[in-house]
Amino acid sequence: MLEQRLNELIQEAYGKTIEECTDAQLYERILQLTKERMEEKPVIGGKKKVYYISMEFLIGKLLSNNLINLGIYEEMADVLKKHGKNLAAVEEAEPEPSLGNGGLGRLAACFLDSIATLGLPGDGIGLNYHYGLFKQVFRDRLQRAEKNDWIQENSWLKDTGLRFEVSFGDRKVQSVLYDIDVIGYDNGRNKLHLFDVASVDESLVKEGISFDKTAVEKNLTLFLYPDDSDEAGNLLRIYQEYFMVSSGAQLIIRQLKEKGCDLYHMDEYAAIQINDTHPTMVIPELIRILTWEEGFTMEDAVNVVSRTCAYTNHTILAEALEKWPLEYIQRVVPQLVPIIKELSARVAKKYEDPRVQIIDGDKRVHMAHIDIHYGYSVNGVAAIHTDILKETELNCFYRIYPEKFNNKTNGITFRRWLLSCNRELSALITDTIGDGFKKDAALLEKLLDRKDDAGVLDALQEIKHRKKEELAAYILEKEGVQLDTDGIFDIQVKRLHEYKRQQMNALYIIHKYLEIREGKKPARPMNFIFGAKAAPAYVIAQDIIHLLLVLAQIINNDPRVSPYMKVVMVENYNVSYAEKLIPACDVSEQISLASKEASGTGNMKFMLNGAVTLGTSDGANVEIHELVGDDNIYIFGENSDQVIRHYGDRDYVPGDYYRKSPVIQAAVDFIVSQEALAVGHRENLERLHRELLNKDWFMTLLDLEDYIAVKDRVFADYEDREKWKRMMLVNIAKAGFFSSDRTIAEYNRDIWKL
Ligand SMILES: *Cc1c(COP(=O)(O)O)cnc(C)c1O
Repeated sequence: MLEQRLNELIQEAYGKTIEECTDAQLYERILQLTKERMEEKPVIGGKKKVYYISMEFLIGKLLSNNLINLGIYEEMADVLKKHGKNLAAVEEAEPEPSLGNGGLGRLAACFLDSIATLGLPGDGIGLNYHYGLFKQVFRDRLQRAEKNDWIQENSWLKDTGLRFEVSFGDRKVQSVLYDIDVIGYDNGRNKLHLFDVASVDESLVKEGISFDKTAVEKNLTLFLYPDDSDEAGNLLRIYQEYFMVSSGAQLIIRQLKEKGCDLYHMDEYAAIQINDTHPTMVIPELIRILTWEEGFTMEDAVNVVSRTCAYTNHTILAEALEKWPLEYIQRVVPQLVPIIKELSARVAKKYEDPRVQIIDGDKRVHMAHIDIHYGYSVNGVAAIHTDILKETELNCFYRIYPEKFNNKTNGITFRRWLLSCNRELSALITDTIGDGFKKDAALLEKLLDRKDDAGVLDALQEIKHRKKEELAAYILEKEGVQLDTDGIFDIQVKRLHEYKRQQMNALYIIHKYLEIREGKKPARPMNFIFGAKAAPAYVIAQDIIHLLLVLAQIINNDPRVSPYMKVVMVENYNVSYAEKLIPACDVSEQISLASKEASGTGNMKFMLNGAVTLGTSDGANVEIHELVGDDNIYIFGENSDQVIRHYGDRDYVPGDYYRKSPVIQAAVDFIVSQEALAVGHRENLERLHRELLNKDWFMTLLDLEDYIAVKDRVFADYEDREKWKRMMLVNIAKAGFFSSDRTIAEYNRDIWKL
């Protein structure tokens, strides 16, 4: 049936056979076929639905995942094979939708998969950015941003025909609704609703990713997170946010009315999960609609909206918590200002504490405070993160509303991060413990019974090696660097940020480089792999990328050292690259400054694929540590209490660490050595050197000595191959907890109650 339908589709479009098609043509036709199959799936129904509203959905390529969830991946692969084609090669032709920055957007995508897989009614609401997040290219060892033109004529997007009007202070625009079907694993269908602006104009983009920021009706859905370093960028961001929540609120109310819902009982039909503060304006917008258009009193509108909306906090970094000047909101959406002022006045009347006010003394609107006062749930994303929210960051709110606070430790969908990206490992697990784990991830623990089974352990190592060879071939082709697949693969991939401390990893690499030059050879070659995009306006992050590229150049071309170590920074790290990197990893670098990484989800993907974590006591690393025990993880550095104390006492002085330790001194000073300057740019390297010595807000040098010592121990332990294989197995066996199916079941049990 599948083969017959594929042949028909190919005949109609190209008048060819499967053999005669290019991979791109095959992709386009299989896309069509898969969409047909998805439409046959029943839409998941029920009285109450969750709307997961988010500025980002980092969904990745969809073909493999949809085939897997439909249960026809193997069949499709066999059909292609029969005709001399390869499904993995066909998938390379799929462009990756670029609708998210990193972890937050990827989480939203994993959640949609799990909501549908659990058979729960739940849709995503977001924006259809034409160029999404920028595409990263390296020129002259610097990051350059280009537009990512991902939307093709045929794609997963379906025009629903629905249109809404969105009013701003100075203009009206029409929103167009596209849907992407979301199929659960062996289950029904939900939707990702993506709004676009009808008047969007791609020709506005000239050089790189620059464009006229004031032509709002044309640029609104061009890019994700436009450069927000100037005022026009900030205003555009508010336009985007309001465009999403206004369109979303109209869609939600329309669907509620279709169900016959009396809006006074909206909370019995809908839960709205607000992913970070970006969609916060949905709260005043719903209140505005109910009072202005539906005849509600303010009291009634506030009450029902507050019983419907729930908020997820993703960060304690002060600079990442949105605080919009009231004047900006006045300019973009004046109709929300009276509502926000009323919400603020109600808070001010009840609570004197200036720390809990919505509008502060500088007339800035604290978006998170709207969510906390006027939502019914506030959740953190890992146990330690929620504890920090309760005890420190949001303590003044926790004292008012202890019942609202709850933890939902993040998770990842195993369909993508195991079944799809590592088919070999998935098959080995199935052969070993059966395939129950595909629906109940906790069953992975059955692997522990095979902890001493040489057959299973050797097969694990075999698969890891094969994945390293595949990755090495890909990196050689894309980046031109030859890795040594008998060596260790040590990987740090994630957005570039000082708190994630890629710069600390770089200092370790310099230290090793200097050691090897002096004749201290490692037991086995080491491959250090990075991937990271940096926000275009984040100067120090650009400098760190530059340093990594300079180190790669120096080290890979130094014949005294390159047989023993390689460094590679892969270009344009994204979901597709992650799916190739993660299965090949031995050592997972999760080295954020304790207290700063809310959860992390990369750490979970690596663990599930048999990598061992080298990390700080931060985010979900803490829970990984509890699950696998001291013997199966490497934890180093100061803990979050100690770090929070340093900030409180302002007693961290990087110069003290630098002067105390000749090792730190040598590594830091290499950044501005003649050798580095011969390859890199003086301005970037000197700025980074100064930053590390004089400011170092995220305390790189605090943990550097401990990091070096523990990482050396990791590499030494790797030589005990039996021990390492067992560590791999224990990590996989204990990863079940991090299935987003578990996370979503908890959201539903405690928050949504669908
Ligand atoms: C999982 C993922 C992330 C998040 O990684 P962290 O290490 O948790 O920050 C970012 N980007 C991509 C492409 C991912 O797949």
